[in-house]
Amino acid sequence: MTDPLLQALVAVLGERHAEPGAAAGSRLSDKHQHYHGKARAFVRPASTEQVAAVVRLCAEHGACVVVQGGNTGLMAAATPDDSGRAVLMSLERMNAIREVDTANDTLTAEAGCILRQVQLAAEGAGRLFPLSLGAEGSCTLGGNLGTNAGGTAVLRYGNTRDLTLGLEVVTAEGEIWHGLRGLRKDNTGYALRDLYIGSEGTLGIITAATLKLFPLPASRATAYVSFNSLGDGVALLAHARAGLSAGLTGFELMSAGCLALVAEQFPGSVLPFDRLEQPWYALLELSYHGEHHEALECMERMLEGALAQGLIVDASLAQSLAQSQAMWQLRENMSEAQAREGRNMKHDISLPLARMEAFVASTAERLQARFPGVRHYTFGHLGDGNLHYNVASPLGMSVAEHMARYSALSRVVHDNVHAHGGSISAEHGIGLRKRDELPRYKSSVELNLMRRLKRALDPLNVLNPGKVVALEAMPE
Ligand SMILES: Cc1cc2nc3c(=O)[nH]c(=O)nc-3n(C[C@H](O)[C@H](O)[C@H](O)COP(=O)(O)OP(=O)(O)OC[C@H]3O[C@@H](n4cnc5c(N)ncnc54)[C@H](O)[C@@H]3O)c2cc1C
Repeated sequence: MTDPLLQALVAVLGERHAEPGAAAGSRLSDKHQHYHGKARAFVRPASTEQVAAVVRLCAEHGACVVVQGGNTGLMAAATPDDSGRAVLMSLERMNAIREVDTANDTLTAEAGCILRQVQLAAEGAGRLFPLSLGAEGSCTLGGNLGTNAGGTAVLRYGNTRDLTLGLEVVTAEGEIWHGLRGLRKDNTGYALRDLYIGSEGTLGIITAATLKLFPLPASRATAYVSFNSLGDGVALLAHARAGLSAGLTGFELMSAGCLALVAEQFPGSVLPFDRLEQPWYALLELSYHGEHHEALECMERMLEGALAQGLIVDASLAQSLAQSQAMWQLRENMSEAQAREGRNMKHDISLPLARMEAFVASTAERLQARFPGVRHYTFGHLGDGNLHYNVASPLGMSVAEHMARYSALSRVVHDNVHAHGGSISAEHGIGLRKRDELPRYKSSVELNLMRRLKRALDPLNVLNPGKVVALEAMPE
């Protein structure tokens, strides 16, 4: 072992937890195996003090730190570059639930906890931690905070930032900010907590968080509905919010093509309707404080109103927990069904609801004109104005040929998102994949503010350099 940095890291963490970079194995590539990097060392600290010591050592030795959670992120934000300058850090040993405070309805957990572990700890205390997403069995709290993850219950409970009260952070200079406050009101200066959340490991390393808990719903009702147009879907959302109020926790959109693909790729799937005759479907979830039969009645009443107004064509209401789970399974298998069919181009976008229908129609028209035959797999969290606007290859074209057109095709989609007042990243972040697109859609004022923040909080560019914003684009 000749690298003096590695020697110093071993002295702090021990040989088992400070290894040469190659020991990181598959962690050196992103989830989709699209980006591959190198690391100078791979470290697994066990405490906040050790994280701080690693950051200080990296700064001293001219190295940088890339913190990685479950590596389920979709923007290559946790993948080191190929310079070999990065120390890749995993917080997997920092996975304690430090405290559950039922009087305050808060839970404090370390950043290396798997999201499912946090959900179960809350349930064990008779509470709900509502952050929920397809990767919850392998993504970590640190990654959820790093990306400000959304998921399927944002409509009711908000995204990760909304669910977080306090943070413990190791700064780029290796100091520890003890900000684990469980206060719901705290107007004592700049919102540092909110700045670190969603900063994708570029401003600080989050080591623990104090999270909000909620009452566990006593019952729930789940339904699938079909409708003829996205405009009807948006109107149905307004109708459902009015009818179910804050009880409406999920409103997931999917096209008929998405549902058909899940049924094809997962042969045991139970579709909610015998035939997929309408172009659009939505999965609605009501969380309810009373008895199950009351939840069902509430949902039924709302759906009858929607039917009477012509907003939906058909509805299917789950009568049991098993049926409800089968309905959710269809939604949860959607990404995997597309992966099994062959890679497609993913666009995680958000739009003002009123412009959703016009966006989908005009984007499809533009894409078909330039890339005839491409197939659209559109689904997402309609309740949050968030679409996963995925575009697959025309039948007969190889996936490789299709993916080679990524930049040109995504440009059409993102330009149209921008023209409709939307965002090119609703919940997955920017990372490396979308970094060079930002200048096209953000004003120079906004970009320069982001760069100044990065420089102020990380003057030596030690933390996850090259992600989110490119610093070299701004004069010193
Ligand atoms: C099947 C599937 C479904 C998904 N569904 C959703 C969804 O519905 N909603 C959604 O928002 N995302 C979704 N994602 C994306 C992904 O799961 C989330 O972004 C998740 O929050 C990432 O967590 P992770 O631990 O895997 O983070 P990683 O991928 O390891 O890292 C992501 C980013 O967070 C940073 N980071 C990691 N740990 C820390 C830390 N301790 N401090 C500071 N920064 C840190 C990393 O540096 C990187 O920039 C999905 C992914 C998959 C594969």
